[in-house]
Amino acid sequence: MELHGALVASPGMGHAVPILELGKHLLNHHGFDRVTVFLVTDDVSRSKSLIGKTLMEEDPKFVIRFIPLDVSGQDLSGSLLTKLAEMMRKALPEIKSSVMELEPRPRVFVVDLLGTEALEVAKELGIMRKHVLVTTSAWFLAFTVYMASLDKQTLFKQLSSIGALLIPGCSPVKFERAQDPRKYIRELAESQRIGAEVITADGVFVNTWHSLEQVTIGSFLDPENLGRVMRGVPVYPVGPLVRPAEPGLKHGVLDWLDLQPKESVVYVSFGSGGALTFEQTNELAYGLELTGHRFVWVVRPPAEDDPSASMFDKTKNETEPLDFLPNGFLDRTKDIGLVVRTWAPQEEILAHKSTGGFVTHCGWNSVLESIVNGVPMVAWPLYSEQKMNARMVSGELKIALQINVADGIVKKEVIAEMVKRVMDEEEGKEMRKNVKELKKTAEEALNMTHIPSAYFT
Ligand code: UDP
Repeated sequence: MELHGALVASPGMGHAVPILELGKHLLNHHGFDRVTVFLVTDDVSRSKSLIGKTLMEEDPKFVIRFIPLDVSGQDLSGSLLTKLAEMMRKALPEIKSSVMELEPRPRVFVVDLLGTEALEVAKELGIMRKHVLVTTSAWFLAFTVYMASLDKQTLFKQLSSIGALLIPGCSPVKFERAQDPRKYIRELAESQRIGAEVITADGVFVNTWHSLEQVTIGSFLDPENLGRVMRGVPVYPVGPLVRPAEPGLKHGVLDWLDLQPKESVVYVSFGSGGALTFEQTNELAYGLELTGHRFVWVVRPPAEDDPSASMFDKTKNETEPLDFLPNGFLDRTKDIGLVVRTWAPQEEILAHKSTGGFVTHCGWNSVLESIVNGVPMVAWPLYSEQKMNARMVSGELKIALQINVADGIVKKEVIAEMVKRVMDEEEGKEMRKNVKELKKTAEEALNMTHIPSAYFT
């Protein structure tokens, strides 16, 4: 019987990229005959163009379908997690009918952490094996499932008295809004629901690998620690699921990088949806100018209230004037810097020999892409679990310096100092060495399959 997998990704490139890579992995390493990937999106044409032509080429074994979602009437206030969970809830009937129509019937189902309600749908459809792909760290999975294992009272008590969640067998997670967890009741409730649904899956795949998160993965394997919280549901590190750089890709940024010295350029990007306020955007511009370093900066129009707002902003376009940048900035930096509007070929930039540092919002995909290309980082988290990722890369892994975002606007002097420390100083050299070591472990992990070979048969 044909082995067919149905994979579903919630909106956002940060979810689409690893789900697509997992699909390829199942075809190439796990004997799948066919994989159908469903991408839930509020903007099909944009998603298509971002995924890139290599993935859109016809392959009868690897089919990509879009599930369009109209968010115009939707309340898009609240955290990104609640927004995306709500969107996935709205998409459930369409997910169900799309999966139901598949031929041959899929035997394996995978959905990312934001769409765990679809596990029940897969069960109703009689799909044998249902999985969750965690597109972020094992540590975040630990946070989510542990939170769900506590009743609300215990959770609130732990958060407000200690200011952190003490997860068995791995690092505690500081909860920045611990003073008043009740204010975030909707977000906490969604997280607890997700954590509870995760353990209804037959298995959980995480975009990580042993050397990256040894302790946390060890805790999941330990029945006395997170193994107990998972109630026997196996956790498989399957990472790094990272889109490989496209050889020979033509792009103005890459042409420009070709002309720069080795490891001399700082790449600055806040992911697929991150935006800064007007004041912060200006401060960053001045900061970059102050470093005197070469840079590539993916610039988005400022957003005042919600740093993730541009994820759903359809008004953005590539021709919008850059009049929100400081007067004369583009002119003054034209010999050392390149400003790219909205979107750049990130994998190819990070893989380029001229790129020497990455100022990143620490979305998990960006972190992994930096590691697989051996590029040290300046960690500048904005929202979601990015602060946890920033803490991991700067603390345990020592491959980044973390900007303190708690004090409001990050001043140009601080930005310049951080960039210089990573690019020029001894501690930066140490980080570069560490990240190149980690890169080797990522390559080793790529050549291994962590899911037992007989698992799907
Ligand atoms: N990305 C890109 N070009 C850009 C911005 C983002 O190719 O200008 C890709 C990036 O390489 C990564 C994904 O979009 O694969 C963003 O995922 P991440 O988890 O880093 O952040 P998110 O966008 O989910 O916040």
